[in-house]
Amino acid sequence: MMNPRVEKLMNEQVNKEFFSAYLYQAIAAYFAEQNLSGFAHWMNAQVQEEVIHAYKFYNHILERGGRVVLEAIDKPPSEWDSPLAAFEAALKHERFISESINKIYDAVIEEKDHASRPLLDWFVDEQIEEEDTATGNVERMKLVADHGHGILMLDKELSARVLPAPVLLGQVPGGE
Ligand code: MG
Repeated sequence: MMNPRVEKLMNEQVNKEFFSAYLYQAIAAYFAEQNLSGFAHWMNAQVQEEVIHAYKFYNHILERGGRVVLEAIDKPPSEWDSPLAAFEAALKHERFISESINKIYDAVIEEKDHASRPLLDWFVDEQIEEEDTATGNVERMKLVADHGHGILMLDKELSARVLPAPVLLGQVPGGE
């Protein structure tokens, strides 16, 4: 039996993670339009990670006997002032997600929902990494500024990101 307050927050988090995927897909399209194919590749990999994040909460709700309720996903922006501004938007969004994860963790502790703690511990660690890589992208973009050669070098570096493992489909409770 799942705690109703935690169930509601986790359903909202499923939506936020799918929105993250949608936002990063929009940024990937913007980068592709700017002929920054390495940046676009990096963001496409990030999209897949966000879908995995959504599934982690989705599967947890099902495994605990809760109900998954999917709401509409907000429309992301379609353009930014510069590639730096797009990376800054991604960093700002990850900070928002970290706050959201922390709020779920607070609820899990208050409601004594011990079974949800391993999942939230995983997300707390993941958000440290997400903010760190997003900050790195912003800082390195600031370093190269408007220098074309530096931007192309960074683009080549980001093109090497390995895609995450394929997304697991939603699990049936009790099934494999
Ligand atoms: Mg995420």
